[in-house]
Amino acid sequence: MVILGKLKFLSRSFAALSSAPLRICIVGSAPAGFYTAEKLLKAHEGVEVDILDRLPTPFGLVRSGVAPDHPETKVVINQFSRVAQNERCSFYGNISLGSSISLVELREMYNAVVLSYGAESDRSIGIHGEDLAGIHAAREIVWWYNGHQDCRNLTPDLKSSDTAVILGQGNVALDVARVLLRPTTELARTDIACHALAALEGSSIRRVFLVGRRGPVQAAWTAKELREILGIKDLDIHIQQADLVTTPADEIEMKNNRIRKRVYELLSKAANPGTSPLCNQRELHFVFFHRPEKFLELDDKSGHLAGVRLEKTILKGDDGQMKQVAVGTGVYEDISCGIALKSIDHKSLAIDGLPFDNHKGIVPNIGGCVLANVSQDESKCDTGLYVCGWLKRGPTGNIGTNLYCAEETASMTLARLFKEGVIIPPDTPGCVRVMGNPRPLMTSA
Ligand code: NAP
Repeated sequence: MVILGKLKFLSRSFAALSSAPLRICIVGSAPAGFYTAEKLLKAHEGVEVDILDRLPTPFGLVRSGVAPDHPETKVVINQFSRVAQNERCSFYGNISLGSSISLVELREMYNAVVLSYGAESDRSIGIHGEDLAGIHAAREIVWWYNGHQDCRNLTPDLKSSDTAVILGQGNVALDVARVLLRPTTELARTDIACHALAALEGSSIRRVFLVGRRGPVQAAWTAKELREILGIKDLDIHIQQADLVTTPADEIEMKNNRIRKRVYELLSKAANPGTSPLCNQRELHFVFFHRPEKFLELDDKSGHLAGVRLEKTILKGDDGQMKQVAVGTGVYEDISCGIALKSIDHKSLAIDGLPFDNHKGIVPNIGGCVLANVSQDESKCDTGLYVCGWLKRGPTGNIGTNLYCAEETASMTLARLFKEGVIIPPDTPGCVRVMGNPRPLMTSA
């Protein structure tokens, strides 16, 4: 547990928060929020930043999204802790935008508000049986094994069957598969939540199916993460040789994308281990070219999952210019399982008063500056409202991606505040100093 030197909670009234002359509020304390705070504080010494989060603790995704066996990824918490210790930065936990305080109220209290509360919900697949017991969003499992307060009471069924199906072939799916398959003696050395470790120690899961609607060239994994799961001790890897046959369009995709090529090479190598599998080993099955058709219920009608029906697909869009899409063939295949995890996409949630593009699942923006609706141009940007992270660009990228995203949002925020005359650039001769405050601050706006 990281102790913040300057952690503060709601005990201070919001009236007090609003008294500083130039204040920027950041909603969401995950990487996008902390990187934005860091950039703003560095860019102008007149800026003061308050970071709010609905959880009592900061760092969001780093704490609850990164797999417990990836401690090196969590090191960034040290950097964020230094930001929090800046005397011009405060963290306020247990504050939910929309219920503790409204966006309108926040906007009245601060010169600018940056929303970076991420994507804390999930897209549904929209197929029959999606509400059966035994089906979870992969995000919920990730939160569960990371001890997130919203999912610590989850009781994933790891007992009634030896098989789990994971739908989707992105890095979240790989993280979850790895945690399900990794020896618990290894997990015990990580900071995995105790309740999850205990459940995994008693788990009957021996076989995990990782299902993708497209092929090995289109899988959304990164090479490092794929290599890691392929290297799990005593894990038997299953890949159909026929799935590895590439088309000219696949070749073009690989030529244009080094990661895809590397992923494909790793899978091809793993499909030829040259050794025969041992008995009682755990198994990881890569299932390509299959999309979920429906979830199957147990015959006893108990409302519990019995399996997943998949439809075989082929790819269309073969000129190499457009994204190849999966098209159903009408050929079906069932996999029996006791638990199925949907790892197809995170989804941001809209709040009252915030323009939202439901199709893309983002707040319409230009460079982080919020637009009143999707169709407007930069001149219609809202000077006081900004976005960063997954709420700005959708659920893509790793923690480092937020660094560039935050740089853009912070620059946009300050540039527009300068433009509106709300603040003066720090190098402006004779800039206004307020009430004996040694820092250059804003003009009377
Ligand atoms: P993702 O990378 O976007 O992968 C989503 C997967 O779901 C894709 O395989 C996609 O297939 C599939 N999918 C989408 N809609 C579907 C549908 N209706 N039916 C069946 N399959 C569907 O998402 P993610 O795994 O949640 O990861 C989110 C971001 O976090 C990514 O940028 C990821 O790299 C990052 N992340 C990184 C790490 C790490 O670095 N260790 C760990 C976790 C997450 P199509 O391609 O066919 O759409």
